[in-house]
Amino acid sequence: MAVYVAQTRDDITDTQLQDILTRLRQVPAKATTRRTRTGFLIVTWAETGPLLEAELARSEHLVRVLPESSSFPLAAREYRPEGSVVRVGAVPVGDGRPVIIAGPCSAETPEVLLETARAVRAAGADMLRVGVFKPRTSPYSFHGLGPDGLAMLRDARAETGLPIVTEILDVRDIDRVADAADLLQVGARNMQNFTLLTELALTGRPVLLKRGLSATVHEWLNAAEYLLAHGNDHVILCERGIRTFERATRNTLDLNAVPVVKHLSHLPILVDPSHGTGATRYVPPMSAAALAAGADGVIVEVHPRPAQALSDGDQSLDLPEFARLATNLRAIGEALGRGRVAAEPELVELA
Ligand code: PEP
Ligand code: MN
Repeated sequence: MAVYVAQTRDDITDTQLQDILTRLRQVPAKATTRRTRTGFLIVTWAETGPLLEAELARSEHLVRVLPESSSFPLAAREYRPEGSVVRVGAVPVGDGRPVIIAGPCSAETPEVLLETARAVRAAGADMLRVGVFKPRTSPYSFHGLGPDGLAMLRDARAETGLPIVTEILDVRDIDRVADAADLLQVGARNMQNFTLLTELALTGRPVLLKRGLSATVHEWLNAAEYLLAHGNDHVILCERGIRTFERATRNTLDLNAVPVVKHLSHLPILVDPSHGTGATRYVPPMSAAALAAGADGVIVEVHPRPAQALSDGDQSLDLPEFARLATNLRAIGEALGRGRVAAEPELVELA
């Protein structure tokens, strides 16, 4: 496979650009374009390097054509040295201010979801996480409410105004999930589900791409490149722990990945210390460490009564624990000079 990056002339017209893309398709090559300050960037790839190179050399509208050695040119830091900001609803992710995403592992009942949503919003959360399609190790575990749960997500968003983050497991669910959620999560088990990534790219909606359980950073950035290569720049990464020999925690939260990703890529990165540790008691210290390491925010599981949660109660914070964590993260964000973390808490009494 040969990959080339070409820069067009500043004054290229739409017709001229379309003409280049038509001719590239005939090579046959694939291509994705991005507007730049000085025209368009074209990333194009084909099985046959010489034919593609010859086609690119023919066009008088290209000012620079370079073979690309990286397998993730669009995700690479060089492509956008200043870093990307991905907007989820009205919430910017990656602008320096750390975001806090909180909510239950799974939607259970409308009452419990609303109770959680109201409490996390009052404590300053920026978005509500909640699963209705749950990938579980055992076929006999609770797999979420499925499509029936989506109305609850819409109600929670309408009631609290919080953007909704939820996992999508199957391409057949994309339209209905996109209707109920603002940030579409690709879970660890699906990081290399390339069909799902490609279809999600076509929606143009923000995607939260969690790191696979045994994926290297390189594989993870290549998975992100699938979304970008198919035209979706609204990609947020999420480190959620990897599988190691260590058994004291559910996973090993790889905080190395935060500065590594920041070095290699312009994409925002969140950290999920709930799945990364598997135990409530470790979530606050690892959330603090994530922000100190430079993460663009954290995503944590919260349940009003973790002991009764239908999934992941062992790693869920209760409502007062989350309120304390949000207060501490706010102080840490300010100490790091990264601005206000989460809204000031509303003056409500938590049980
Ligand atoms: C989740 O967020 O509830 C989840 C299942 O995450 P992961 O894919 O990281 O295991
Ligand atoms: Mn979970």
